[in-house]
Amino acid sequence: MICRSVLLSVIAVYTASAFAHDNLLRRASPSNAAEFAQLRGSSKQCADYGIPALNKMVHDHEFPKVGKIASILEHDDDARALYNSIQHQIPNIGVRESKSHHTEFGDDTKQYPESDPDCWWSMSGCHKPKHDTIPADVYQCPGKGTWGLTFDDGPYCAQNKLYNFLQEQDLRATMFFIGGNVINSPFQAQRALVDGHDICGHTWSHKLMTTLSNEQVFAELYYTAKAIKKIVGVTPRCWRPPQGDVDDRVRAIATALGMHTIMWQEDTNDWQLGEGASRKKIAHNYHKIFEKANHESPIVLTHELPKTMSEFIRMYPDMKAAYKHVVPVSACVNATNPYPEQITYPTMQQFVSGQRASQGLPSGERIRVNPDAKPTFTPTNNQQNSFS
Ligand SMILES: [Zn+2]
Repeated sequence: MICRSVLLSVIAVYTASAFAHDNLLRRASPSNAAEFAQLRGSSKQCADYGIPALNKMVHDHEFPKVGKIASILEHDDDARALYNSIQHQIPNIGVRESKSHHTEFGDDTKQYPESDPDCWWSMSGCHKPKHDTIPADVYQCPGKGTWGLTFDDGPYCAQNKLYNFLQEQDLRATMFFIGGNVINSPFQAQRALVDGHDICGHTWSHKLMTTLSNEQVFAELYYTAKAIKKIVGVTPRCWRPPQGDVDDRVRAIATALGMHTIMWQEDTNDWQLGEGASRKKIAHNYHKIFEKANHESPIVLTHELPKTMSEFIRMYPDMKAAYKHVVPVSACVNATNPYPEQITYPTMQQFVSGQRASQGLPSGERIRVNPDAKPTFTPTNNQQNSFS
């Protein structure tokens, strides 16, 4: 009898401590974007918190492999039908030669004609397509003294310091998300929408897009939009090509998927901070752009990478002093409907007069991964109040 009661109390203690341990574990990992936003320190933010609905989609091969060049997945009838339906919109322009896994051009691309028949940015800096059905790239804001604030390559797992700073300064930015990163950092991606930033695509695997086949270009854009829709709840109407590599063939496919091409007029080259460049050198790059505030309104390229985020924070006081306005691309071009979903962003006029809140955004507590959500692709010429 005594033995049994001792045994029971041992079980009780064990159960209580297991329960406490389970609770601790649950408290340690965020269960929504609002809880994620409270985390400090990169190890907590970058821990694998896992979302069962997303894990199931990855397990069921709903997305290409993270980091690999996308192509249309077997049995993806929606993607195949959409791809087939846009064939007539794709101009007959060759795929560029490449070496080293589509991150470097082949030598024969140097033979490209100087007349630039394909508006190939990498060769000529062209922003105005030679094919008249394609909208021009957006690379600057109207007027003078406006800084178009953009961050490429996110979401990065330890982003809260940057996003908290943007919140404290009442800033919004345009985020160009890599599809694979959205899969790896879903609460981070959700926080970007909750905080009122613009969500745009930056391809699935971050390769030189003109070196990929039509189907690969389509899939790189399509699956990035699909990941953003299922995880964040919106369909992006904007994208930026990695390294700016775009021509009229690639633009035409993006246009058919309803995505405007957003480039930049000025480049901080801040990514070089991770490749050995000194902070002094990058600060110098920023300051060269600050000096242009009296005669330019550039959209500026910066990155959501570990070292570049803190550099932006360090540079912001001087940026604010030099430029009258620091705005996201949506405000700069009055894209009050940056997504087909029912969300309204401020006009430039509203934004600069302090009315910066967007209408219809989800809260960090309520935003959810939705495996049933499907992106709505509206070709760019059928869009209202979008990016052109
Ligand atoms: Zn990039």
